[in-house]
Amino acid sequence: MNTFDALKPIRRPEIDAIAAYHVPDASGYIKLDAMENPYGLPPALKSELGQRLSEVMLNRYPDPSAHVLRARLCKAMGVPAGYDVMLGNGSDELIQILALALARPGATLLAVEPSFVMYRMIAGFVGMQYAGVPLRDDFSLDVDAVLAEIATKQPALVFLAYPNNPTGNRFAAEDVIRIIEAAPGLVVVDEAYHAFASDSFMPRLPQYPNLVVMRTLSKLGLAGLRLGFMSAHPDWLTYFDKVRLPYNINVLSQAAASFLLDHIDVFNAQAATIRQERSRLFTALSAMPGLTVYPSEANFILVQMADAEACYAELKAQHILIKKLHGAHPMLSGCLRFTVGSPEENDRVLAVLGEWIAQRQLAPV
Ligand code: PMP
Repeated sequence: MNTFDALKPIRRPEIDAIAAYHVPDASGYIKLDAMENPYGLPPALKSELGQRLSEVMLNRYPDPSAHVLRARLCKAMGVPAGYDVMLGNGSDELIQILALALARPGATLLAVEPSFVMYRMIAGFVGMQYAGVPLRDDFSLDVDAVLAEIATKQPALVFLAYPNNPTGNRFAAEDVIRIIEAAPGLVVVDEAYHAFASDSFMPRLPQYPNLVVMRTLSKLGLAGLRLGFMSAHPDWLTYFDKVRLPYNINVLSQAAASFLLDHIDVFNAQAATIRQERSRLFTALSAMPGLTVYPSEANFILVQMADAEACYAELKAQHILIKKLHGAHPMLSGCLRFTVGSPEENDRVLAVLGEWIAQRQLAPV
């Protein structure tokens, strides 16, 4: 028997029971599975960035508090006066920090379903109870069900993705406010898709002392840097900072993000193009027979159809990688998620999908 088998008693059964977060190899594919921005940096910015990064002292530990970057983020992202940000190695790490810091025995983390899977996974990692409240069939927020669950479970932490992943819709702000007001603990409004959405809770922070607003640079065009940030009442940031590992943001990410935030207009312009492409894709997909296309305020579109499995396989055979949600959650049966790509990538998706649908309609039953 190897050590792994022999030492089963020291392992945690809840870790044995889950599968690691799977990321498929996308080399050679049009990559529309992970909500990345399809555009790179303009050449002039690239070379200036290269110059800046060559000056970084790789032999030294990073600034543990990343104060230059924090100040730039506060300015660029509209963080309210008197509020600061805490940084994470992606917002994934911030979700983990929040949960770790509040995982008293018996504490509950509440989220809606379907939503971002890391909320539930991280609750499991840190030993919190997890309460998942189903969305309505149209993926809108069932606010009364959430309020009822809050009343019985008294969660320490509530996560609401705003807009939601994987459904793409943004919940009604009034409903989110009712949840913040009713929650006995903290409510995290996860604005990972903020660049593509029409509302934000960032300006509302001073009104709600139990509100945390979380964002990431990943969807804005810097997924490779791994940089997430969150803002909340200063006392809470001081508290969460105790759990953060000292050098969680490496020197290259700090230098690159500090420099690139001076050029935020480049990323904002790319986000505007992505929003335009989103509405073009939405219109074209909605015109295809047999598809239910869900409105999105994010940089992806959720589509539901019969035979999603075959559609996914056909797109893959044509070197297009999207996210198959069918099978991931009972409410996502028949669902596929398309990240909005460049105009050329979106054209290719529409062509392959259109062809596949046409052939199936022609096929004898
Ligand atoms: N929150 C939501 C709602 C997401 O969809 C994602 C990424 N898929 C994240 C957080 C994590 O993003 P990152 O770790 O890249 O900042």
